[in-house]
Amino acid sequence: MREPVRKRTFQYLVLGLGGIGSAAAYWLAQQAGADVLGLEQFPLGHVRGGSQDHTRIIRLSYHNTTYVKLAQAAYQAWTAVEADANELLVYKTGGLDLSPAGSRLPLSDYTNSLTTRNIPYELLDAAEIMHRWPQWRLPDHVTGLFQSEGGLVAAAKSNAAHQRLARAFGATLRDNAPVTAIYPSGNEITVVAGGETYTCEKLVIASGAWTNHLLAHFGSHINLTVTQEQVTYYASPHLADFAPERFPIWIWLDEPCYYGFPAFGEAGPKIAQDVGGQETTAESRTFEIDTAAFQRTDTFLRQHLPTAHGPVITAKTCLYTMPPDRDFVLDTLPGHSNVAIAVGAGHAFKFASLLGKILSQLATTGQSEHDLSLFRFSRPILFTENPVKEFMV
Ligand SMILES: Cc1cc2nc3c(=O)[nH]c(=O)nc-3n(C[C@H](O)[C@H](O)[C@H](O)COP(=O)(O)OP(=O)(O)OC[C@H]3O[C@@H](n4cnc5c(N)ncnc54)[C@H](O)[C@@H]3O)c2cc1C
Repeated sequence: MREPVRKRTFQYLVLGLGGIGSAAAYWLAQQAGADVLGLEQFPLGHVRGGSQDHTRIIRLSYHNTTYVKLAQAAYQAWTAVEADANELLVYKTGGLDLSPAGSRLPLSDYTNSLTTRNIPYELLDAAEIMHRWPQWRLPDHVTGLFQSEGGLVAAAKSNAAHQRLARAFGATLRDNAPVTAIYPSGNEITVVAGGETYTCEKLVIASGAWTNHLLAHFGSHINLTVTQEQVTYYASPHLADFAPERFPIWIWLDEPCYYGFPAFGEAGPKIAQDVGGQETTAESRTFEIDTAAFQRTDTFLRQHLPTAHGPVITAKTCLYTMPPDRDFVLDTLPGHSNVAIAVGAGHAFKFASLLGKILSQLATTGQSEHDLSLFRFSRPILFTENPVKEFMV
């Protein structure tokens, strides 16, 4: 049902209501209530972007301390939303990073970052891992990093919570309203969406795979790679062994890089490959399952988690949007300090509420208490011709 929208002038306008934009609307609405408008081109909760499905991994173990520090703040942001929403969104199952000998992603990057931030973790050999989680079949040369705070965020549920709360704080959220034109002029920005014209003082762009479409209205373009990723759920005959209380989220830290979840939202565990998808665009993407990618994850599962394997319950596709260095974009637009932008680089859902909070800070005060130097819009690699792409993080 299209919400009657009388108001045309807002202080803040959020463009895109996926994981990050919905969070930005929530954090902005706490401060500016009815002066916040959120616009989404598809129905809320749609499956065409990067933020749908039941689960996303949340973890403190990252390859550098900037992300570890941000992840610590991300947990706090989720705790605040959970309190407001009066519902659990983060489920701590523990997180297991698995590192085969000679792996492409050095485990020491992760252990060093955690140690620097005084975050406890355990290093386990293959025998100890299989003792604790007999679901695993691992060669001796595999080492595991277990961090107890790791877990999953209930993705679709979190998006709905952010949207519900934003509206409860007074914001207007309009879906099925594609933004087709943006006219920035000094302190006022005019936006045309779904046949209506709005003006705002501050604009937040959180439009995922469509980012360059929106940047075109500012005469700008950045290097972004969009890939069509996929996840598969299996009807394991040993379902109880994959309950969240008995099976931690996991990441196979190598190339190819696989990751997985206990059973949540579907009646079986989930597996996927990080950056296992083909390059595409938001327009030309399909919902077809890539059989070669499916074979890779299926083979890995049969080899290392044989009791998880069973009939496929479902397989789904989804979009990554990645700068060449796979670091976020989180900044205001050069020359347009009243426009804040975020791009999640295919690993941002765990940070979604925090990134929404940071966008609200950039929109309201132009700055944030967090170190955003890694995420600058003006960093050269976003504009370099034929940039070197490093997607393994
Ligand atoms: C398969 C898969 C697994 C992942 N696993 C993890 C994980 O385990 N942990 C983790 O932290 N991250 C993970 N991620 C990454 C994470 O989900 C994304 O980084 C994040 O969800 C991106 O959110 P977003 O809001 O930027 O993008 P989106 O959710 O795509 O939102 C952008 C929104 O903008 C809207 N929009 C665009 N253009 C317009 C317009 N012109 N007018 C109106 N609306 C517009 C779109 O319709 C869309 O709703 C995964 C991603 C995928 C695809």
